[in-house]
Amino acid sequence: MRTAVQQLMMSIERISPRKKHPHPATLQTFRLRPGTYPEQIVADDALRFIGVVDLLEVTEEGAEIIDFKSGSPNIAHEEQVRCYSTLWKHDVIRNPEGRTATRLRIVYPSSSIDLALDGVDYDDARDSLRTRIEVATEALEKGIPKARPLPNTCRYCSVRHLCDEYWETETNRERTNPIDLELEVRELRTANSGTVQLRQTSSHATIYGPIDGIESGDHVRALELYRSDDYESEKVQLHVMPHSELFVMRSE
Ligand code: SF4
Repeated sequence: MRTAVQQLMMSIERISPRKKHPHPATLQTFRLRPGTYPEQIVADDALRFIGVVDLLEVTEEGAEIIDFKSGSPNIAHEEQVRCYSTLWKHDVIRNPEGRTATRLRIVYPSSSIDLALDGVDYDDARDSLRTRIEVATEALEKGIPKARPLPNTCRYCSVRHLCDEYWETETNRERTNPIDLELEVRELRTANSGTVQLRQTSSHATIYGPIDGIESGDHVRALELYRSDDYESEKVQLHVMPHSELFVMRSE
């Protein structure tokens, strides 16, 4: 399987207007004293499961878990932060006293949400997490698990450019801006503009933004583009944003 993944990774070329930095998560292997910890790992060693909290504010009483998100509120964000609170509660290294989270907060560009903490049963939450891990482990042991595209899951998936099921089921088309699109490059005018064909609809579009590195004829899977249609001319316009990523798919 490793060989197959390596071959797959070698068959694509990633062109991004912004380079990603190595994960800066902090693996503290001692009890966390009161303080502020950005990008902090919390782990339930018994479950062999970790999470990386964007910002962990530890106090004598417990901890405030804060996650920063772009986009709009989503139930998946709440589940993620609740999962962090369960991991924190059962992290015997960083939280040996088993202090509970005193605040769970999700911060969006123009709003924030505080999740209710009343009635949270951390043992139940841990059992639920254990069950999900067991189901996933069983699927992995049976071979490569089948991809099951779902719009609200796939949009956060970091390997969706490699996932044929995501594109073939047109799960990408259920998104609004920012959007993912599969493109054929038709003509490059400059390093910042060109004409592309949308593979799923066959319509043409003008693409703007840093696109140096792609060539005419390339098959590209583009993530997080912004689409702005010119309704007078009925022309589709696509914009490569700072956070967009373009992957050129090579056949070998
Ligand atoms: S894009 Fe593919 S691998 Fe990723 S979550 Fe969706 S179905 Fe799973």
